[in-house]
Amino acid sequence: VVEAAGQQLDRLVRVQPDFPQPGVLFRDLTPVLADAMALDLLARALVAPAPTATLVAGIEARGFLLGAVAAMSLGVGVLALRKPGKLPGEVLSESYDLEYGAAALQVHPGDVPADARVLVIDDVLATGGTVAAACRLLRRAGAEVVGVSVAVELAALGGRAALARQEADVPVSTV
Ligand code: AMP
Repeated sequence: VVEAAGQQLDRLVRVQPDFPQPGVLFRDLTPVLADAMALDLLARALVAPAPTATLVAGIEARGFLLGAVAAMSLGVGVLALRKPGKLPGEVLSESYDLEYGAAALQVHPGDVPADARVLVIDDVLATGGTVAAACRLLRRAGAEVVGVSVAVELAALGGRAALARQEADVPVSTV
């Protein structure tokens, strides 16, 4: 399923130079989301490496779409890791640097069961800062992070190695 999903990504991901700013080669997955077969394959491929996860975490915003379909295919719930200012009430927060800019992720600690085994999902792995922050945030919320799964990995940006230095025990899978 991972190989079949990868073929769909090769076919459908739109590569846009200089977006959202000069020098960034943006990977746009909206054509993948709009294709029923590709979306179904991708959902199953994302969770294939972590069949024992009890919860999926999707990173705002494109990780929400993939996280939700992946959670459905695994039969577990989905946790929204949100940008600041979106979640009401008590939140935990983790800051990080992006390929373009800086940001933070937040979660409601009460949404994370004490024994949660969480699979982190996002669309693109670039420098790895986003998923590293997601892992830190989830651990602070009491979860075990059992894996990171992304649709597209930009290998030249070294995110996998950066993540391995910070999160040595978290396996990273790319479709
Ligand atoms: P990073 O923290 O550097 O690994 O960046 C990953 C996050 O930024 C993901 O949430 C992606 O959606 C987004 N992102 C970074 N670079 C790109 C890119 N070249 N194309 C599409 N999304 C990107």
